[in-house]
Parts: sequence; C-alpha cells; structure tokens
Amino acid sequence: MKTKKSWFALISLIISVVLVLTGCGGDSKEPAASGSASGSTAPSGEKKEITFMFRGGPDDQKAYEATVKKFEADHPNVKVKIIMTAADQYATKLKASITGKNVPDVFFYDPGDLKAYVNGGVLLDITQYTENNPKIDISKVWKKGVDLYRYDGKVAGQGSIYGMPKDLGPFAMGYNKTMFEKAGIPLPDKDKPYTWDEFINVNKQLTLDTNGDGKLDQWGTGLNVNWTLHAFVWSNGADFLDPTQTKVTVDDPKFAEAVQLFADMQNVHKVTPSISESQTLDTYQRWMQGQIGFFPVGPWDLSTYQKLPFDFDLIPYPAGSTGKTATWLGSLGIGVSKNTKAPDEAAALALYLSASEEGMQMLSDAKVQMPNLTDMAEKWAADTSFKPANKAEFLEVTNDYGRPMPATLTYNAEWYNLFFTDIQPVLDGKITAIEYVKQEQPKMQKLLDKAIEQEQKAVNK
Ligand code: CA
Repeated sequence: MKTKKSWFALISLIISVVLVLTGCGGDSKEPAASGSASGSTAPSGEKKEITFMFRGGPDDQKAYEATVKKFEADHPNVKVKIIMTAADQYATKLKASITGKNVPDVFFYDPGDLKAYVNGGVLLDITQYTENNPKIDISKVWKKGVDLYRYDGKVAGQGSIYGMPKDLGPFAMGYNKTMFEKAGIPLPDKDKPYTWDEFINVNKQLTLDTNGDGKLDQWGTGLNVNWTLHAFVWSNGADFLDPTQTKVTVDDPKFAEAVQLFADMQNVHKVTPSISESQTLDTYQRWMQGQIGFFPVGPWDLSTYQKLPFDFDLIPYPAGSTGKTATWLGSLGIGVSKNTKAPDEAAALALYLSASEEGMQMLSDAKVQMPNLTDMAEKWAADTSFKPANKAEFLEVTNDYGRPMPATLTYNAEWYNLFFTDIQPVLDGKITAIEYVKQEQPKMQKLLDKAIEQEQKAVNK
C-alpha cells in the first residue's frame, strides 16, 4: 500500500548518505580494464556469488525476485544473493555498508550521490560493459536516464558510466475521474493545463459534504509540499537555483507566490483535508479510498493503483504565470561496487535489470516502473489493458517537461533539505511565504557554498 511513500522515503533519506563520504580517502584512478566487453559470465565450473541490495514495496520485491531468477537461469555460473531492505532502512544500511567497506556488488543509489560516490571510490566505472555488448544496446535506453549516471571527474552528465537508471520516475498529476463524473464537473483537458485560478475553482467544487452530516467527505486535493511544490514554482517561472547552480534563488517573488498558493490551498481556499483531518488519515490513504480529487501518480504506483475502487487518469499540473506545466523527472540508479570481486557478473546483472529486453519486460509487466527502453515504453503507454488511459503523460514528462530534482544538481542536498525542514509555519499560515523565503535564502546559500567547497576539495585532491 505504501509504494509511493516508500519510494519518496528512499530518495529523501538516501541523500544523507553522501555525508559519510565527505573526506573519505578514495582514489580517482580508473578501474583496471579487466572485464570482457560482453559482460558474460565466468568460465564454466566456476560459480560466482554476487549480492544485490535494493528496496521497495511487496510488488517490487516480487518483481525483482522473479527477474533475478530469470537472470540466474540465463547465467548458470552466477548465484545472486538478494538483500531486500525496507525502504526506511535502506539509507542507513547503505551508509553502514560504505563505512564498513562492505558495499553490495550491485545496489540502488540516488543520482544525487553520484559525484561523491565516484570521488569516494564506491562506484565502479561500467562503461566498458555497455560497449560492444551483444545483449545490451544502451542507445535504446532513455538518453537522459543514462546521462544521469555519467561523470567525467568534474562535471556530471558526461563521461564514464557509473551506473544505469533502475528507472525514470515521471511524476505526473492524476485525478479521480469517477469523482468528477459524480459531481457533474467537466473532465480536465489532458492537453491544456488548468490555470491556478481554474485549478482552485475546480478544487472548491470537489470539496464536499456528500452525506449532509456537516462534515466534509471529499476534498479537491491534498498535496505533499516535498514532492509537488516544484510544479507550482517552475510553472510560475521561478527555480531553486540559478543556471550556474551556485546561487539559491528561492527569494524570487515568483517563488514566494507559488509557496503562498500552496499554503492557501489549506488555509484560505480550504480545499485540502485540515491538519487534524490529515492526522486521522493521511492524504495518500484518502486518495486510495476515493476521497481526493487531484493526486500525483508515478509509474511505480501502477501495480497498486490497478485495484483502486474508482477510475483515474493523468493530466498536466496546473500552470502558473508561464502558462506552461512543469514537474520533476526522478530516477534511481543501479550501480556496481568498485570493490566487487566479480565485476563482470555484477555489471551483467545491473545491465540485465536496467537495459535488457527480457529483464525490462518482466519488470514492466509487473507494473512497478515505466520501461527504460524507449520503444518498449511507447508500447507500454499505448497499452489500454491497464489504467490509466493517458499513460502518454508519463512519456511527455520524460521527453518534454520533466526536470531533475534540484538536489541532484549539487554536491549534497543539505541546502535543499533545509527549505522543507523549516517550511511548516508557512503551511500553517503563521508566516507569509515572502517572509519565509527571505529568511531562508541566506541559510540555504551558506549550506550550498559549503557543498561547492567540498566538491572542489574532492575534485582537486
Ligand atoms: Ca459528511
């Protein structure tokens, strides 16, 4: 039931793992080019065991166990030991394995940690396994997905490959179609985002006491600020960072406007469950029970959401002053330990799970992700045998309007996390958004300056 939340918990928690590596004395030498380019298995008779650590909900677990089993059948000389970890334990476990120098052979990691992990000697350069490999054609994988895991020693996004996308996570907006139909409200246009005013207006029409007992039974929305503020900020022409990624720009009035709208949804427009109503049942659970009109949807939700007791579909997020919709495109990486004793086998597994036709088909059929292979993703989006109808919105986010999470662009996430750690008084209506962003910018800038300094030190070492 908690797939979405688990995924979120992982990315927010995993970011802190990077701190462990600060000052860690890894070298930056290229790994010896000893592996065969085909990423094939060891000579017959020599059975190699590798460990694979990942996390996810029960559906992810089932999907990965089955896919790993298939990998073992295709690679009879390899035995994979699966280390399944609860989402909220994953960051701690990975951190412990890094400090204890006992990193699993293959593991999930956050792209925001790429540079620190490479500088800290945690990740193996797997470029050679992606070249001239008869089983893998990485030109078929989302280019922006692969580029997330490239690093040339100075700049991320180019150079050697230190992992593959386990998936790309286009974070689309969803709506409860059945609720609209019952309320007699025209369905949202999948090709034309609402303006903010239109969005608030529809939310008000959806916020209802349906049984006349004086208590609300359904609400327009109930968004988590950590995951959906971006859509409002970006579509209003503001951002967390300037284009050089060295200046925190949250004190832009356009940024404040988006934060204020967010707070006003609860305090002024009253289209979300109140604080006490959210405490009795959170908005994710309320969405699942059909009490929420608009709620975000990621591809990782689809296995769970097939069982929802209502029909839902995808639309663009409402657009602020730019008139253009925006959201983020997340990702988790699958990397190979630099200290693995079986680099060929480990790289073969990582590539099987991220870029092979067979592996990807199994994971995609389990509805725990959007396929990483672009051709397969198009077929998946057009497949009308499962909900939602407009899965093409996921492709649009991926190809067109999805942006990386701000913290993945910087050396660590501390500056970014602070914004959300401190934000509650604004959401509670105790201070205005403009006051908040003005007081927060200098604190965030200080942390970003520190991160830039750490990166320079690590690179110049
Ligand atoms: Ca009622």
